Amino acid sequence: MGSILQAKCSCGFDSGELCLGGGRLTFETNCAFPCNCSSCGHLSTPNLFESDNVCGECGKPGSTPYDDDVMVHPDSRVVEQPIGPVMTAVNKVLSVIPFRAAKAPEYDNSIFSWNAKGQLGRDLTLTENKYFCPQCKNYSLTFECVGMWD
Ligand SMILES: [Zn+2]
Ligand SMILES: [Zn+2]
Repeated sequence: MGSILQAKCSCGFDSGELCLGGGRLTFETNCAFPCNCSSCGHLSTPNLFESDNVCGECGKPGSTPYDDDVMVHPDSRVVEQPIGPVMTAVNKVLSVIPFRAAKAPEYDNSIFSWNAKGQLGRDLTLTENKYFCPQCKNYSLTFECVGMWD
């Protein structure tokens, strides 16, 4: 069963309802997931089980899935922040490196999660964190679960 999510930003951007994942009959071959198009900047939901991530707006391949670290607010990428003035320089360096491994295992503020290990080698997750907004280009976009679909 898939989820219906809506992405909103303080700048006024509203994605409308996004049907993510797959339905009862299609979950093995279809996994819709929000992606940001590097060509036109549109947020669309291509099927990640087809390798191209084709943008629903301009038709160009290579959209970046929203579970990619570059799409998440930099503050959300590192769980443990080194404290103290000595660590400031280190912290600066760390803060620009996407750090998937730093996320604690019990880290769970996910609002969408899809087991795609068989197809993609990873689980697809969206959390309550702030994400890159395709309209204002700030990390101020949030996803909200508004329902389920089958
Ligand atoms: Zn596009
Ligand atoms: Zn925005």
